[in-house]
Amino acid sequence: MIADRLQAIRSELPDRVRLIAVSKFHPIESIIEAYKAGQRHFGENRVQEMVSKEVLLRSQCPDLQWHQIGTLQRNKVKYIAPFVSMIESVDSLRLMDEIERQAARYERKIDILLQVHVAAEETKSGFALDKLEEAARLLSQTDCYPHIRPCGVMGMATLTTDEERVRQDFVQIRELFVHLRQDYFSSCECFEQISMGMSGDYRIAIEEGSTSVRIGSAIFGERNY
Ligand SMILES: *Cc1c(COP(=O)(O)O)cnc(C)c1O
Repeated sequence: MIADRLQAIRSELPDRVRLIAVSKFHPIESIIEAYKAGQRHFGENRVQEMVSKEVLLRSQCPDLQWHQIGTLQRNKVKYIAPFVSMIESVDSLRLMDEIERQAARYERKIDILLQVHVAAEETKSGFALDKLEEAARLLSQTDCYPHIRPCGVMGMATLTTDEERVRQDFVQIRELFVHLRQDYFSSCECFEQISMGMSGDYRIAIEEGSTSVRIGSAIFGERNY
């Protein structure tokens, strides 16, 4: 069933769009099922959950790529730094500093996305505009963060049934991406990802230029919190 849903979603995605299967709150059996169906990128939003799943799946799913998509506390970076593939929820300079420190400790270079705040809800995280600019400026100075690879932006649309508002939010995320790429990362080929779109709004996100969709419930079913 998971394999069928994955297949159906994949058939809708243009080649340029990567699918992150958001497995938070779902058991490892579901992840294994998706992995066997060819899925490699998985998203989790809680560090403890990602870490325990990683331990259990390490040998069975050797090339599984973990994406941290939820708010990340600085004191927890050390737990995921040895294995995480991409941290999509980078929303402060202090968090960037800690990722740099931990990545250096493990002699890794960690891919990150800058999370931007465009949604109406104050509770959603992400850089405010002025800080985003400063983060991009620092990241583009090569010797500041040698163990971080800036790969693009991540954002969420406002939670609303108003499709026009959702679309506007996605347009704004893409415009921020284009601006950052032009002004700071024009010589950096890795800055190419726009991670936006979830189960309820990924079709709109793709129309507005998403290169990476993060889909949970449409693949794994409803979550039991
Ligand atoms: C949970 C979550 C998703 C996936 O949500 P669905 O509606 O289940 O597809 C995507 N992005 C983030 C940041 C999330 O926390």
